[in-house]
Amino acid sequence: MSFLDKFSKSRSEKVPVITEVQIKQALSSVMDPDLNKDIVTLGFVQNVVIKGTEVSFKVVLTTPACPVKELLKKQCEQAVLAIPGIETANVEMTAVTKASPSAFSSQSETLSKVKNIIAVASGKGGVGKSTTAVQLAYALSKTGAKVGLLDADVYGPSLPLMTGVSDPTQQRDGIVIPPVANGVKIISTAMFSSGQGAAILRGPMAANVIKQFVTKVEWGELDYLLIDYPPGTGDIQLTLSQITSITGAVIVTTPQEMALIDVRKAVHMFQTLKVPVLGVIETMSYFICDGCDKKHFLFHQGGGQKLATQYGVPLLGQIPMDTHVVQSSDQGQPEILSNPDGQASLAYTLACGELARHISILNAGAGEKLQQFSIDWQN
Ligand code: ADP
Repeated sequence: MSFLDKFSKSRSEKVPVITEVQIKQALSSVMDPDLNKDIVTLGFVQNVVIKGTEVSFKVVLTTPACPVKELLKKQCEQAVLAIPGIETANVEMTAVTKASPSAFSSQSETLSKVKNIIAVASGKGGVGKSTTAVQLAYALSKTGAKVGLLDADVYGPSLPLMTGVSDPTQQRDGIVIPPVANGVKIISTAMFSSGQGAAILRGPMAANVIKQFVTKVEWGELDYLLIDYPPGTGDIQLTLSQITSITGAVIVTTPQEMALIDVRKAVHMFQTLKVPVLGVIETMSYFICDGCDKKHFLFHQGGGQKLATQYGVPLLGQIPMDTHVVQSSDQGQPEILSNPDGQASLAYTLACGELARHISILNAGAGEKLQQFSIDWQN
């Protein structure tokens, strides 16, 4: 064997030709922990490009708010870098939000491009439900999702105040174009009533107003439309479930038993309406005072977990009491945007990730457990 033959042989041994099949084989060791399948089988791996010792590919998740995005990226890098001959891995994490199987079957044309409709409800007023709806909307929007907020709390519409959104000024063929505040489309009764107008609406009238918010507003393409439900279990709630295909409901409560009594009624209502309960968010769970790191449980402890356990749904998050939240809400600057590193924002960000996860699980058809409730109305 000549010197040149030997040289080219050793070179070809050092730099084996890597194929897409090998890359995908390696990536099939990376499991999506929620969907319990590997990311290749799930079709997440796309655009594989191999150039010598360098491989680039996209991982297309089912939500941009996936809380294990960074972990999956690391696992992908490790998996391909373990292939002899691969020295560089460029992994682009991206997402195309998966639509609820019931999406697009909404009766209203204006919701025909909305992938997921999420009810944020409590049953009781004053527990931080509207605040939660706003923070979740902006937490989702920050991840790149297209988000809308519908203020269905006609008796106490607070979203314009909390978000600083202006009134709508445009319409097309009688359909209102929702104003946008920091990337989120918002519609509220407060935009159409002067002063206290909305507060004196009778039940059927209020339900009619809500119907218009669904059918006469151009929501356009949205990954998530969050609906801030009014407290209680009346006309508006029933109307919403009749005219929209709700993907699932998030139940907001404070920890004390007094709140849980009414919140259970809201859970029961969603069960009756066959709307899956995605989980519970406990607000005002504790307070950390200045100067000491101790958590003070002003409204007792464990109420949210108790509720979640009772209905076999996850506790999506526990939000501390934080005076910043009150200030930022009153100033129309969502806490998640104005104070992103604050303790409430961090807790809301975690809750948003958990919510997005459970929506994805439900939409993937792996959510049977979420829908199997044991109704224990007496407890
Ligand atoms: P609901 O929609 O259940 O009636 P809101 O979201 O309007 O409740 O909140 C009621 C009050 O509690 C508001 O003044 C709000 O700023 C405040 N609040 C909500 N969440 C928190 C929190 N995590 N920490 C402190 N105050 C909060």
